[in-house]
Amino acid sequence: LLRCRGLRKTFGGHVVLDGLDLAIDEHRVVALIGASGSGKSTLLRCVNLLEELDDGTIELDGQDISDPRVDPDRVRRRIGMVFQAYNLFPHLSVLDNVTLAPVRVHRRPRAEAEAQARELLDRVGLGAKANAYPDRLSGGQQQRVAIVRALANSPRLMLLDEVTSALDPELVGEVLALVRELKADGMTMVLATHEMGFAREVADQVCFLDGGRVVESGPPERVLGDPTEPRTRQFLRRII
Ligand code: ATP
Ligand code: MG
Repeated sequence: LLRCRGLRKTFGGHVVLDGLDLAIDEHRVVALIGASGSGKSTLLRCVNLLEELDDGTIELDGQDISDPRVDPDRVRRRIGMVFQAYNLFPHLSVLDNVTLAPVRVHRRPRAEAEAQARELLDRVGLGAKANAYPDRLSGGQQQRVAIVRALANSPRLMLLDEVTSALDPELVGEVLALVRELKADGMTMVLATHEMGFAREVADQVCFLDGGRVVESGPPERVLGDPTEPRTRQFLRRII
């Protein structure tokens, strides 16, 4: 579904992605791990065409989306991205946050978009909050709305960047439960995370990033439990 080849990205001479390769099949979940500054967020932002590449190609569903002639907005409609800080629009109700893109960008009839939004909100236990404003929700609830908002575009791929790291520990569980459900529904996801327990549980494949490359990747039990690369071992030793 997604294939990144030789991605290179520099910021003012500082190399962040250095010939990075990554491939993901449909319905699979890939967790990106690695030290702070290893390029996890930059990689996700490149895939969503929020950053311009210096080199390399990104294919989504067989289409080269890194081709400069490709319209980034059309690509982003096929990708749902959720950030660490939930980025809901504070002046819009939960329902309007979720229906904004389907109505404005996809030109779906409002009634249809609202019906779908209510169904999604019900599914994540937030049906009763449809008319509330974001500042009346807990952090975990806001993050679940942000995920629902990304889902409302019926994306082919979800990119989740540290979706739990801004949350109080007691709220992390409800967001992780939603990610688990998405996986059960067959959603293809790439998630950057510092939570190794979560990566182990939800990911089919774990990729360890260091020096702007994928240094080691494989099933979570192997990469997290019995890594072969010294740099992966060192990283895991430091964080446990
Ligand atoms: P974390 O685990 O802390 O989220 P990360 O793996 O997501 O880290 P990135 O945010 O991708 O790391 O950052 C990789 C490197 O790129 C860092 O050194 C960062 O300072 C640099 N960087 C990222 N975005 C920019 C930018 N817009 N301008 C300049 N440098 C940037
Ligand atoms: Mg990051």
